[in-house]
Amino acid sequence: MRIKLVYPAWPRLRQQTPFILPPLGLAVAAALTPSGHEVSLADENALPLDLDDRPDLVGIGAMLTCQLARAFEIADHYRARGVPVVMGGVSATCAAEEARRHADAVVLGEAEGVWPEALADAAGGRLKPVYRRKKFASGREIPSPRRDLLAGKEYSYRGLRMVDLVETARGCGLGCFPCVVGGFSGTGFRPRDLQAVAREISAIPNDRLYIVDNALQQDEAHERAVFAALKAAGKRWVGHCVSATPELARLAADCGCWYVYQAVITPNEDFARKVRIFHEHGIGVEATVLLGVDSHGPDIFRRMVDYLLDLEVEIAEFTVQTPFPGTALFDDIKRSGRLLHQDWRRYNAEQAVFRPARMTPEQLSEGCQWAWREFYRDDPQRARMARLLRRVLPAREKAG
Ligand code: SF4
Repeated sequence: MRIKLVYPAWPRLRQQTPFILPPLGLAVAAALTPSGHEVSLADENALPLDLDDRPDLVGIGAMLTCQLARAFEIADHYRARGVPVVMGGVSATCAAEEARRHADAVVLGEAEGVWPEALADAAGGRLKPVYRRKKFASGREIPSPRRDLLAGKEYSYRGLRMVDLVETARGCGLGCFPCVVGGFSGTGFRPRDLQAVAREISAIPNDRLYIVDNALQQDEAHERAVFAALKAAGKRWVGHCVSATPELARLAADCGCWYVYQAVITPNEDFARKVRIFHEHGIGVEATVLLGVDSHGPDIFRRMVDYLLDLEVEIAEFTVQTPFPGTALFDDIKRSGRLLHQDWRRYNAEQAVFRPARMTPEQLSEGCQWAWREFYRDDPQRARMARLLRRVLPAREKAG
């Protein structure tokens, strides 16, 4: 079959740094596709989508809730042309009933094992409405993604190719509020075959990687092994949830850690301690800030911006707490009558879609925008990004 994998466009945060990341999940689905099929991958965020074609099957991956409306439009379009559509991804799983109304089949949860089954059924004209694994795939079943299908697409910032994504494990048992990783990928830690990961990392031509594991720090032996593979490959990399101990921060820096994402909900000493440790080892910090939890009143915006400026984090990204469908937070807020609407396009963490406990939705949305402006007022995002980039650019790219 000629299989077209589609990653729908999604509305980015207005103030977010303007580079996009390649869709790793679909590149993994392509790698899971049995030989004999012809696979292409269209990322609508990188290139305009050709909707005039007629593949034998369309697979749509929807990771973000704010992608769902566009995913449904694309699915409806192809089905109207007689092309069967299979939909999957985190947000399609979380909004499974709605996804089923727009697709011939929905893959719930991870694709390993069930995507090949859906393709075999599609080839035989007997697609089932739902595919779901009974147990999570072992780490060894997770393949290296088909990066060749991402070639030629625009994943750069100011003309510079940014990061290639690498996944070394799935699952997280740490249970932070309001993370969805445990719900989608399970609470058990599932490392990939580390020799395969090391080979994969070495084979990537790009010098800059993004280790997308949600929580490297949950298994120290694994974390050390990943650091060793990165050091052997001589890459620079970004990641999140790296152990913030002096020894592991030193090891992370020694194997090329460039900057880390650190989530923060309320100013607190533990976050400040981690930032200090990373900075002492030359590792930058991008604070990913969640605003609008029930303990936040209208003073949170000023307090948070002052706190982050005092800590001298390199970059900050301010988001509005969003109750994504399929999460406990969504159920709680809906049950308490605080949900404002279910227009998924507006679930992009930029505006309040629920009534916060201690301020109005308008105060929350406007406060979040104010925080972006205020944090970057005296030191614009572009200048901060340029300084971060200078840390990792080889001389030939700086000159270019
Ligand atoms: S450590 Fe990261 S992945 Fe794990 S629960 Fe917390 S936020 Fe989610």
